[in-house]
Amino acid sequence: MRLSRYFLPVLKETPAEAQIVSHRLMLRAGMIRQASAGIYSWLPLGYKVLRRIEDIVHEEQQRAGHIPVLMPTIQSADLWRESGRYDDYGQEMLRIRDRHERDMLYGPTNEELITDIFRAHVGSYKALPLTLYHIQWKFRDEVRPRFGVMRGREFLMKDGYNFDLTKEDALHAYNRHLVTYLRTYERLGLQAIPMRADSGPIGGDDTHEFLVLAETGESEVFYDSAITDLTFGDRAIDYDSREECRAVLEEFTSRYARTDETHDEALFNAIPEERRKSARGIEVGQIFYFGTKYSEPMGAMVTNEAGERVPVHMGSHGIGVSRLVGAIIEASHDEKGIVWPESVAPFGVGIVNLKQGDAAADAACEDAYAKLAAAGLDPLYDDREERAGAKFATMDLIGLPWRLTIGPRGLAAGTVELTRRKTGETQELSLESALAKLTA
Ligand code: ATP
Ligand code: MG
Repeated sequence: MRLSRYFLPVLKETPAEAQIVSHRLMLRAGMIRQASAGIYSWLPLGYKVLRRIEDIVHEEQQRAGHIPVLMPTIQSADLWRESGRYDDYGQEMLRIRDRHERDMLYGPTNEELITDIFRAHVGSYKALPLTLYHIQWKFRDEVRPRFGVMRGREFLMKDGYNFDLTKEDALHAYNRHLVTYLRTYERLGLQAIPMRADSGPIGGDDTHEFLVLAETGESEVFYDSAITDLTFGDRAIDYDSREECRAVLEEFTSRYARTDETHDEALFNAIPEERRKSARGIEVGQIFYFGTKYSEPMGAMVTNEAGERVPVHMGSHGIGVSRLVGAIIEASHDEKGIVWPESVAPFGVGIVNLKQGDAAADAACEDAYAKLAAAGLDPLYDDREERAGAKFATMDLIGLPWRLTIGPRGLAAGTVELTRRKTGETQELSLESALAKLTA
């Protein structure tokens, strides 16, 4: 992409309404624009990052055998009356009436809708296990939408639902989701710690939230610092193996880590004092096992091997896709701007032409642009007639992993500059070596 033809409305001033760094940087970098309280338009740069996160979430879900679908945002109130949640859900649910006076709602989550799909099409244990998921916009009329996309009213969520014959099978699905989540967050460059949590309006006994530690997090958390040493890495895992998935759950939940809702002072105080930590965290996901809470009232039954009709065991599993954009920035930025992990960066490399209009500089930039694009690096070429300082500030603000700086003086000496955003480390080298390094 050539910056002269792109739409990147960066702001010079720090927006006064933004209280936390990720919100400020997302506005300044022209990633989002508020449409109304807690509702945002995603501008090109923000939309690219959102899509990259979605891609990783899809890949990791499908790796575990979970199947993508797409359910609507608008749901019928009747389904929620069947589960009993229409009245329970309260003011967070946006209720709508259509022209025929039918009660509709903008879905805050999808347990009812997916259970309805299941009961319409599945009748036998032979179709199990089954996990369906989608990535779709949700609406919750939060009392206090704030912090930009972190606590929006409309937000993008991946929500997945497992259907199993027995509790044991459903607990395997729970553990399998925990593994997929560990992998997903690590690929996004985040450490998200599974913590025992409270189930809230979704219901159920078993639930873990995944929290990214950050001062601006809205949750209060308590943990044994030994848990922060654990990483999943790129270990191979057989998602069908109950033992392997359970072993990962045991490893990652063996240390004390809880949100304030489930915090237990006595257990916490049993941890050696130097490892006892309390901090703030951003909830980026949650997994639940809730058994037959929805299948029973809604009649989602299958015939088991003995020929009996039994309600299926279910769980649901959510990732806050749009919140993650903010969470990644909270975890990775400096005083100049965002520092994207490579896996989600909106462009792989920025090219800065120090003297637009200079024949040699223009030609070298065009050459680099074509080669980097051909190598799949998705370069952003700043070809505007702007001061070098302004170009650098924009590149630093939008946080691309690499900056390739090309100007007449360097070219005369046979060099360009390659700068790593994360460290600021700059190398002077020939254009060929710089391109070789980037495309290696
Ligand atoms: P919170 O406690 O932050 O209100 P929740 O527990 O109600 O979240 P879940 O039902 O667990 O949310 O939804 C799954 C994920 O969706 C959450 O872990 C979070 O990352 C994301 N999420 C929930 N509410 C919002 C929101 N208002 N804005 C952005 N993301 C959200
Ligand atoms: Mg939650």
